[in-house]
Amino acid sequence: MARITLDNLAHSYLPAPKGEADYALKQMDHVWEDGGAYALLGPSGCGKSTLLNIISGLLIPSQGRVLFGDQDVTRAPTAARNIAQVFQFPVVYDTMTVRENLAFPLRNRGMDAGYVTRRVGEIAEMIGMADVLDRKARGLTADAKQKISLGRGMVREDVNAILFDEPLTVIDPHMKFELRTQLKALHRQFAHTMIYVTHDQTEALTFADKVVVMYDGRVVQMGTPQELFDTPEHTFVGYFIGSPGMNILDAEVSGAMARVKGAEVPLGLGYDALTGRVQIGVRPEFCSLTSGAGLPIRVTRVEDVGRHRIVRGETEAGAVNITLPEGMAVEAGADRVVFAPERVNVYADDWRVRPARGVA
Ligand code: ADP
Ligand code: MG
Repeated sequence: MARITLDNLAHSYLPAPKGEADYALKQMDHVWEDGGAYALLGPSGCGKSTLLNIISGLLIPSQGRVLFGDQDVTRAPTAARNIAQVFQFPVVYDTMTVRENLAFPLRNRGMDAGYVTRRVGEIAEMIGMADVLDRKARGLTADAKQKISLGRGMVREDVNAILFDEPLTVIDPHMKFELRTQLKALHRQFAHTMIYVTHDQTEALTFADKVVVMYDGRVVQMGTPQELFDTPEHTFVGYFIGSPGMNILDAEVSGAMARVKGAEVPLGLGYDALTGRVQIGVRPEFCSLTSGAGLPIRVTRVEDVGRHRIVRGETEAGAVNITLPEGMAVEAGADRVVFAPERVNVYADDWRVRPARGVA
């Protein structure tokens, strides 16, 4: 197993890239610690598969190096990297049985027959296919074939890393949860480095210890689910993580006070003078609806979503969503929203600004 370092990496699919816009991956440095369970989260087209394929060796980056431990593998073929990769759509050998498909990576490496039988049995249990081991893969549903692909990705115990590229896309929702739980169990058991690509925040947050958020060819933040929730380093993280995402309003900030259109908003800590487009961000969970003082709001909709409610409103500064805890009603006449000061983040040109005093 190995720590994976991306050193000064960038990739363009064009033969002669000119500006930054021509790069699917902008220049980056990034380290994946040995044994980490990572989710790589971001919207479609942000560069997740490009990054994964560079790590696995399916793609050679146009700039920079990939290191496994201290070894430069940038130009090493996939087979020499000792990794397993599971793709979005099934890759199975149709003429082989389920058992043969699962055993393939082990037989390929000359493992002894007793071990292969035992290991294939364990994996078959994990993916819920122990009773169809002797069926041919041909004729199985896409869902079942993808489970075989997942199983094949997990069958080797000696890999440097397992890379998953949106592996549950074709799996039915019920089984998704089950398989994700199995992947976590597998991680606990073998502590492989795992990188799990998804565009689904629920998948990312439940699978990973560390979530790496990508946006437009860049890693914009790596953090625990809690860190992404509390202190999004980029407005995109605030907006993309959470349901609904963070409220983001244009502001002028002076010391420990922000002025948005319609009100002054006290901040938990003071800030030095800022340049660029200044915004404040506050999650709906830290907004409350009141009357009297605060930012004037017109409630447009109240949605019941299981255990809590989402109040959607309009202010002079823009749309604001508020999450009401379970059982709390919208007071008649509530026409102001207030933000918990210590929960307001400040952004300049989309990046979070650290307060001038105190601990960020
Ligand atoms: P994601 O996996 O996050 O959806 P990708 O890594 O597949 O994103 O794509 C990142 C960007 O690179 C997109 O703009 C996509 O159109 C482009 N791209 C991906 N693969 C190729 C390719 N083989 N040739 C040219 N452009 C590509
Ligand atoms: Mg992709």
